[in-house]
Amino acid sequence: NVKKETLGFQAEVKQLLQLMIHSLYSNKEIVLRELISNASDAADKLRFAALADNSLYENDSDLKIRVSFDKEARTVTISDNGIGMGRDEVINNIGTIAKSGTKEFFQSLTGDQAKDANLIGQFGVGFYSAFILADKVTLITRRAGSTDAVRWESAGEGDYTLESVDKPSRGTDIVLHLREGEDEFLNDWKLKTIIRKYSDHITLPIVMKKSEWNEGEQVATDEDETVNRASALWARSRNDITEEEYQEFYKHVSHDFENPLAWSHNRVEGKQEYISLLYLPSKAPFDLYERDRQHGIKLYVKRVFIMDDTEQLMPQYLRFVRGVIDSADLPLNVSREILQHSKDIDAIKAGSVKKVLGLLEDLAENKPEEYASFWKEFGRVLKEGPGEDFSNKDKIAGLLRFASTHADDADQIVSFKDYISRMKDGQDAIYYITADSFAAAQHSPHLEIFRKKGIEVLLLSDRVDEWLLGSLTEFEGKKLQSVAKGDLDLGKLEDEAEKEQQKKTEDEYKPLVERVQTVLGESVKEVRVTHRLTDSPACLVAGKHDLSGNLERLLKAAGQ
Ligand code: ADP
Ligand code: MG
Repeated sequence: NVKKETLGFQAEVKQLLQLMIHSLYSNKEIVLRELISNASDAADKLRFAALADNSLYENDSDLKIRVSFDKEARTVTISDNGIGMGRDEVINNIGTIAKSGTKEFFQSLTGDQAKDANLIGQFGVGFYSAFILADKVTLITRRAGSTDAVRWESAGEGDYTLESVDKPSRGTDIVLHLREGEDEFLNDWKLKTIIRKYSDHITLPIVMKKSEWNEGEQVATDEDETVNRASALWARSRNDITEEEYQEFYKHVSHDFENPLAWSHNRVEGKQEYISLLYLPSKAPFDLYERDRQHGIKLYVKRVFIMDDTEQLMPQYLRFVRGVIDSADLPLNVSREILQHSKDIDAIKAGSVKKVLGLLEDLAENKPEEYASFWKEFGRVLKEGPGEDFSNKDKIAGLLRFASTHADDADQIVSFKDYISRMKDGQDAIYYITADSFAAAQHSPHLEIFRKKGIEVLLLSDRVDEWLLGSLTEFEGKKLQSVAKGDLDLGKLEDEAEKEQQKKTEDEYKPLVERVQTVLGESVKEVRVTHRLTDSPACLVAGKHDLSGNLERLLKAAGQ
């Protein structure tokens, strides 16, 4: 046996541990939930790995999670016979945080406990939550197929120890040495109640010893009892699932701490047979804009976990969706390569996208406040949709929300439908302006004539808006038109008298225009008299077919 060695935690882990203990001490019950959730993930991973190599089961394919406690030693233990971890995996998974968004997370901390508790929840509490209940945690683990087991131990301060040990059974034991005053967890009834409350949806049996009353005291027997329901929640019928169960299941699949905003649970039959349970989170994760971030759908085949992070199941613009899809048709040995070229997967993806868009339409229509909160968190991601998903372009366009001169406020609340309902008689285009900030859009001189005539203009200032307008050129037959491009033809919105007046002005100023043109020379394409402005003396306009000024700035900033 290798001697014991002591290793230091990564600085971020130290910080996170302190924060967790101080901000989440009132959420003690979630410790069990997090550790059981990890045990369940470990079993899923083993089941999948064993599809390729059955020997990993080591003649024990009866996967389960065991919770036990020892009153004398004041410990609670969570054991699983899942995949386990090798020495390096323990160091990497437990001693470091390798998540994207870590920097942003630490930067956003405020020092205000309630606020930070929320942020930690969003970031993911996971394994470290053990230290909320325990002042020392021992983790003993052996990876399936290996003979080397390790024992990790830490008091959750600066460092941890590692040593080689013997562990006949595969998987992981986590021993919580309870803090002073946490003895209520050394109780059969208490533990079983927590498991039923938070982990009922876990697919694996969670077993504890059956207990008996003996002379007024509850004592454990040798018999096992399965505490949870242990059936796949998504396979049950909707009527049979409570709101709380849906919420707890969400926290398990998403590793999120907060309740979801909404969900859609469907059993699809016909050509493709599958079940989908898809959730919208309430809050955007820290790494929503990271390129290599994880995708949120878990793929199962006939209740067997196949893989996480399946980008084939949701398009990029819906990358915030979390949940499971369980197919009845795919082969169990399906690989990422096969998924990439699978017609079945394409059909499942198309069906699932429809469900998510339907869920959003339903929120927008029936729960406008929830939709507004969704839009604040994820609107900029949804705006990538029309460019990515041609077949659902119109549906997505109907879900978009913008700021406009109507409320003259930065809140994005105006839909194309709202806009159209306020169009002037004779107006046949949807007018917009793009700029690199809301203030710049709102104060653009291009808007003067529109404000004067009371014509609404959409004020677009998100980076993604230019990309959106590249793929969305009309809505329900109304053209989207920039107020800053080309000749401004307000068409029927101008009366004859106005046009006459304009012609006269143009003739009158011809000599001036010619002089300005000579002075500016090559730096401009053309100088002309404008009727766009009512207060400002002059403005820059992009040619009809040129890039807009804002896009030009964006490309320059990107080094193009
Ligand atoms: P998350 O579950 O969100 O990945 P956690 O902090 O809960 O984060 O766990 C960190 C990692 O430690 C897991 O991703 C997994 O690789 C490993 N791990 C934790 N518990 C177990 C376990 N019981 N068996 C195997 N691996 C585990
Ligand atoms: Mg976890």
